[in-house]
Amino acid sequence: MALAQHQIDKPPFDVEAIRQDFPALSLTPYGKSLVYLDSAASAQKPEAVIEAEARCYREYYANVHRGVHYLSTKATVAYEDARRNVARFMGAGDPSEIVFVRGTTEAINLVAATYGREHVGEGDEVLITTMEHHSNIVPWQMLCEEKGAKLVVAPIDDRGDIILEELEKIMSERTKLLATVHVSNALGTINPVERIIEMAHERGIPVLLDGAQAAPHLPMNVAELDCEFYTFSGHKAFGPSGIGALYGKKELLDAMPPYQGGGEMIRSVTFEKTEYAPAPARFEAGTPNIAGAIALGATVDYLEAIGMGAIQAYEEELLAYGTSALESVSGLRLIGTAVHKASVLSFVMDGVHPHDIGTILDREGIAVRTGHHCAQPVMDRYGVAATARASLAFYNTKEEIDRLIAGLEKVREIFG
Ligand code: PLP
Repeated sequence: MALAQHQIDKPPFDVEAIRQDFPALSLTPYGKSLVYLDSAASAQKPEAVIEAEARCYREYYANVHRGVHYLSTKATVAYEDARRNVARFMGAGDPSEIVFVRGTTEAINLVAATYGREHVGEGDEVLITTMEHHSNIVPWQMLCEEKGAKLVVAPIDDRGDIILEELEKIMSERTKLLATVHVSNALGTINPVERIIEMAHERGIPVLLDGAQAAPHLPMNVAELDCEFYTFSGHKAFGPSGIGALYGKKELLDAMPPYQGGGEMIRSVTFEKTEYAPAPARFEAGTPNIAGAIALGATVDYLEAIGMGAIQAYEEELLAYGTSALESVSGLRLIGTAVHKASVLSFVMDGVHPHDIGTILDREGIAVRTGHHCAQPVMDRYGVAATARASLAFYNTKEEIDRLIAGLEKVREIFG
């Protein structure tokens, strides 16, 4: 993807300076300096984000879109500025194409319950892939059950790449939506979304991309991608929890029925009839996460100041280092070895349960995730119940990967 000029003209990447921005990185669990390798579950927050949220509560907190008073006006301006920032970060042409949601899960449920309910009928199909997070499976399953439609699943190969020829074969005139992850949380695969969207659009199939694991790692441009919907969660992208964004093409959002009813999403209400507000207000019923949205605006400002291109380049180096380091650990098998990967290292070790790996590493001050990563069908595909997952972010270092390897050597010593 072509980088914007502001992503190219950056000072050299200085990971030590960046680490100073994240207070949590100097914590010392069990007296050991923290090695935080669980950013795919939720990332740590820079001071700029913490401060933006605190400043809102301290200096200009009030409800938005409702009051004529000073504080409400100020909060509303900041909330809508944040929407503009997020639109710019995502490459959306118009801020009204950005709906603030709780996160990726809510965004996908929103699309399934509105666009999905209107466009998917009996005998239709919704197409997903084997490597989806549960939040891009269950809402479609629920919709298909309700409508008598079918959930169709594109297979992946042993490395963790979508088999494009198979995907193409199962697209048909019955396919009403293709919903796929951009970057897999369990495997790290970066899907060839440009090609997938092209294939889908040739057949008139709209595409939703789950960008929960892409937004923290890759430059994003929804206009260039030309996808119909794109979503990410603030908390995985170094922002607050409980806030995220759904991008939808304007003409689609404008035509979609509301998700939830209540205040904020209406133009007028009588007991006989309600007229709905235009998008995005139509999809933001009730008091939103005001401070969270404002802090999400500060988050994307922070990321853009570093440059997503620079972040991607640094992480590629880190991932290559981590991959070869893990391959040197005896009896360790990487799950997910796709050609194009983002910073996820999922693995199993002969004779050791992933939870034991996680517990031993934890006592060394190293935080990794263990379990099925809310992607049980992926675990089934590889014949494992769970994996240990070290997930990297741009604040991690090669020295931290060395600490991980030393921790795993300890696991090996204990389990033989
Ligand atoms: N999609 C992917 C790929 C994820 O990794 C996650 C969270 O792990 C989600 C969706 C759900 O995100 P959230 O829990 O923030 O709604």
